[in-house]
Amino acid sequence: MEDCIFCKIVNEEIPSEKIYEDDELIAFKDINPVAPIHILIIPKKHISTLMEMKEEDMHIMENIMQAVQKIAKEQKIDVSGFRLIANCGPDSGQEIMHIHFHLLAGKKMGPKIIF
Ligand code: AMP
Ligand code: ZN
Repeated sequence: MEDCIFCKIVNEEIPSEKIYEDDELIAFKDINPVAPIHILIIPKKHISTLMEMKEEDMHIMENIMQAVQKIAKEQKIDVSGFRLIANCGPDSGQEIMHIHFHLLAGKKMGPKIIF
């Protein structure tokens, strides 16, 4: 989608530190990390929010969870653990209107899920 920064990352119109790619997804390092490991996992298809997902998009979630497991093993955080967050809509503070999951790891995180 035009003017979507994450679509531009998918199309390599703007650079990213990509760490994973398959037919439907890419994962890259967050430009402003809030944990030692902060990776964003996004579908290549432009979908603005979780609430905009259609029936035919639901298989993407399965692919994302498979990618999360692969990435966690590659990053050696499969045992130590990680936090997976998806913001949706105004109250969440979602800034980029292209579905993405934050994968946070590399430090002991507190019980609060807000970051
Ligand atoms: P959210 O608030 O859930 O929409 O999060 C958007 C995230 O995208 C933030 O953590 C930003 O640091 C990150 N971000 C914005 N622009 C870029 C970029 N060009 N490359 C990597 N991460 C980005
Ligand atoms: Zn997009």
